[in-house]
Amino acid sequence: MALTGLQIFKQLPKTNCKDCGNPTCLAFAMALAAGKTSLDKCPHVSEEAKDALGAAAAPPIKLVKIGSAISELELGDETELFRHDKRFFHPTAIAVLVEDTEDIAARVASFNELEFDRVGLHFVTDMVALQCSSNDAATFSAAAELVAANTDKSFMLICEDVAIMDAAATAVASRKPLLYAATNDNYEAMTALAQKVACPLAVKGNGLANLAELVDKITKLGYKELVLDSGSRETSQVLADLTQIRRLAVRKRFRSFGYPAMAFTSKTDALEEVVQANVYVAKYAGLVVVKASKKEEILPILSWRQNLYTDPQKPIQVEAKAVAIGDVTPDSPVYITTNFSLTYYIVEGEVESSKVPAYIVPINTDGISVLTSWAAGKLTGEAIAKALVANDMEAKVNHKTLVLPGYVAVLSGSTAEATGWKVLVGPREASGISKFAKENFVK
Ligand code: SF4
Repeated sequence: MALTGLQIFKQLPKTNCKDCGNPTCLAFAMALAAGKTSLDKCPHVSEEAKDALGAAAAPPIKLVKIGSAISELELGDETELFRHDKRFFHPTAIAVLVEDTEDIAARVASFNELEFDRVGLHFVTDMVALQCSSNDAATFSAAAELVAANTDKSFMLICEDVAIMDAAATAVASRKPLLYAATNDNYEAMTALAQKVACPLAVKGNGLANLAELVDKITKLGYKELVLDSGSRETSQVLADLTQIRRLAVRKRFRSFGYPAMAFTSKTDALEEVVQANVYVAKYAGLVVVKASKKEEILPILSWRQNLYTDPQKPIQVEAKAVAIGDVTPDSPVYITTNFSLTYYIVEGEVESSKVPAYIVPINTDGISVLTSWAAGKLTGEAIAKALVANDMEAKVNHKTLVLPGYVAVLSGSTAEATGWKVLVGPREASGISKFAKENFVK
């Protein structure tokens, strides 16, 4: 049962020393009760109090690690229901299903290529989910060894037959795969195996009530490196289960659900499967197993994940440094934009496709887009003047002419005054850059 703020407060030193970053011990107690801080932030708490506060000090959702030092994945340790309350911490791992009867080396080679660069970030597909379809210990074990040999990434083993799982898990134990799954029928033996090979264990219930019972039985056996699967496969039921698990863990501190949760897609149509996976990424799977294995299927899932797991208080930014696009010369135009990643990369793409080599000077607006940063007073004539000097633009071009984004044409006068450069007002949308460049810079 979770402790209240007042119960926690009674165990604290009550000196209000602020060393924990809170103004008072009571504020710290309230934050701890809400899962917004951890007990170790108070350096003055006694050992007796630590024992008494054990439950409150534990994170609402345990951090579970899958994989070895080569490529360790972290799931869980989330504290929020809604991203805008703080942020989500550990992006949903995406696992690609591979059957042990397939050409494992070929499937893993194509899995390894599921990596992407987008808005200056590198995305990877996290795991192979190796399923035992052969029902044969030697085949499954050999396939597990092939997966381990052909990728540095983490993987999971899917088999409910403990004897077959034992052979494969023992063969690749040093890679610490996730073992799927402990069920009502096998949980004692599967838990003993997970303990023996020191690998995390997925628990598959038959609905939420059964899942909670099963988790309690397994934790009583002394194992807590768990990932939860309610057993549902229909989209709305999985969504309801994942939401209940997260709510009960974070809001009610229900310890049986204090572990990362996982889901399997069930749709056979590729597009429907992507949508289904994205529902589970949004709420609240720590791991989603998909059949999708093509780049065009995986990229939308990873892009959606990226949008959810960026810190809403820290927009993604590029370095505020002038970039030369193409074979620039002293005659090349100079485009001004902001260092908000999405804005910058859209402008960069359009400048590239205009085929008119140019410089782009991203102004440091703390990652805010053009109009917002102008409204916030971060995109100003003075800021542009400073950026031109910092990037030594006068030495790079021979014309002292810059192009302002059309949306901030209002800055023309102050920019000309602050920089001493001639100001051209560019298009409002980046899609107009190509036409603008041809009209203004192609002789
Ligand atoms: S560091 Fe500990 S004693 Fe100091 S204000 Fe915070 S909770 Fe109280």
